[in-house]
Order: sequence, then C-alpha cells, then structure tokens
Amino acid sequence: MWNVRWMALTLFMLLLISCEDEETNEVALPENVSTEENVEFRNCLTSEVLEKQALEDPTILQRMNQIEDFTKTYRTRERSATERSSIVYIPVVIHVVYYNYYENISYSQIQSQIDVLNRDFNKLNSEVSTIPSEFEDDAAAFNIYFYLDQIVRVQSNRSSWGDSSDIKYSNRGGSDAWDTSKYLNIWVGNIGDGILGYAQFPGGNPNTDGVVVSPQFFGTTGYVQTPFDLGRTTTHEVGHWLNLRHIWGDSRNCAVDDFVYDTPSQNSPNYGCPSYPTYHCNTSDMFMNFMDYTDDACMSMFTNGQKVRSRALFANGGFREGFVR
Ligand SMILES: [Zn+2]
Repeated sequence: MWNVRWMALTLFMLLLISCEDEETNEVALPENVSTEENVEFRNCLTSEVLEKQALEDPTILQRMNQIEDFTKTYRTRERSATERSSIVYIPVVIHVVYYNYYENISYSQIQSQIDVLNRDFNKLNSEVSTIPSEFEDDAAAFNIYFYLDQIVRVQSNRSSWGDSSDIKYSNRGGSDAWDTSKYLNIWVGNIGDGILGYAQFPGGNPNTDGVVVSPQFFGTTGYVQTPFDLGRTTTHEVGHWLNLRHIWGDSRNCAVDDFVYDTPSQNSPNYGCPSYPTYHCNTSDMFMNFMDYTDDACMSMFTNGQKVRSRALFANGGFREGFVR
C-alpha cells in the first residue's frame, strides 16, 4: 500500500516538474499550499528599520531633512504641475531570495506585481470607482510607470530574514543591489514574524535602498496568501520608497502629520476592511489610502499631495533624479 502511495506521489512530483515552463519558471501549484504562518493584519516594518538605521548612522536623518526641505520648495514652486505631468519610467530589479520551492516564485507572479504597481500608481485600479465622493477629487495618477528589467534568483539556506539587511548582500547569503540611483530593487524573501514588508526611505544607505516583501504577499497569482494577495503590500512599500509616510504619521497623536496636505489626520492605523465612514481626530479617515494598514481589497488610492511628495524626488536636484537622466 505504501509503495503505491509513494509511486503516486512520485508521479505527481514528476508531473509538476514536467509542467514547468523553462521560459517562465511557471509551475502549477497544488491546491492547498501550506504557508509557515497565517498573517491576519498588515504589519510593515519601515519605521522600525529607519529607527534602527538612524541609530547606527545619524547622518541619515540629516539627509532626510534635506530631502524634506527640497520637497517643500518643490511643492511651492510647482503650482502649475507641468513638471509632474511628464512620465517617469522606473526599471525594476527583482531579487528572488528563496529557501524552498514555493518561495522561488514564478515569472507570472512577478509580472502580476509589476502590473499592480502600474495600475495603483496611475489611478487605473478597478477600485477607483469605489472611492467615497468626499475623496474623489483627491485621488491622483502619479505618471510613474514600472517595468521589469531583471530577475535575479538566489537560493539561500535561511528560512527567514527578519529586519536584517543581510538579504541585500551576496556575501551574507542574499543578493547585492543593482545601482540604486537607476533601479528600484525589490527583494522577495521571507521576512517572518508576521511582517509583510518594509522599505527604505530616500536618504538612506545606497547599498540597501529598495523594498523587501515576503513572497506570499507579492503579486496576485501563484504563492500568495489572503487577505494580502492583491499586490498592495508592494504598492505600500514602493510608496515609502517614493517618500510617503504612513497616513497616521506613525504616532498616536492627531497632531503628528504624514507631511501631506490632503490626507485627513489619523491617530492610528486602520486594519481589515473598515466600514465607511470611520472617524478619528474629528475627520473621516481615508482608510482606503495605500499608506494605511487596511487589507489589499479595501485599498484604492493615493492623493494629489502624496503625488507631489513623490514627484519631487525626480525633479532637478531631487534625490531620485538619476531615474530621469
Ligand atoms: Zn508601511
């Protein structure tokens, strides 16, 4: 009996292998893919990673303050918005740093994430029609488009990376960043501890600039896990890479801002799918903003103010000017 079962399993595995398309690394996944942990609520580590890095290198905060000053000047200068109407193209390098078979995600899973970025940052996502009327005029198309430039695959003997930057260095078992002044680097590797992803704000160490996302929260097809299976974790993290803060300003105080003029004050993140309207700080929460902590299906927009912050990076003298040269 056991021999029969073993043979059936072997045949199944052979079938899986034979289904693999060498061009796309496409593999048919079994129905019940088990994951190491089920994550119920969004948790992004960006602010904690910044605190840790700033303790090691306080000059990061000086550079961030300079970028903030530049952003304020840009916002005042660019009332006409002509500079923001040009299209910025971002080449993306995906580093797939995998421990097991499932984490070596397919080409189609990667491309599905690129497609989500292009829709979400350009107001082309289907949920635009669900934006409440009070926020409709705030919703922005950034005119920033992303394209897949390269996939780097690295097999690792580490099953999780935590908040360590080791995943960004080949001599520590990860994968080295490509020139971060010209490429958006995204590392797809298991972070663990219920962390979906994290990013580095503009102004940090160039060798670690980019975004890290756990594979089960990356893209919309293949090895993905609900309720974070619509690619919004990467949209959120790329938002940080484009200098956007959490919409509640990472504080329990209504007075702490996200430096964006058209996002209402919040004193805490929203989770799950809140019912509209939800009030904090005497205003209606924009919980459908990509920089809140709601589930993928309940996010739908960035604002004009967030667009101004991000586009300032690509202006003459901006921190990410290298992308438009
Ligand atoms: Zn975040």
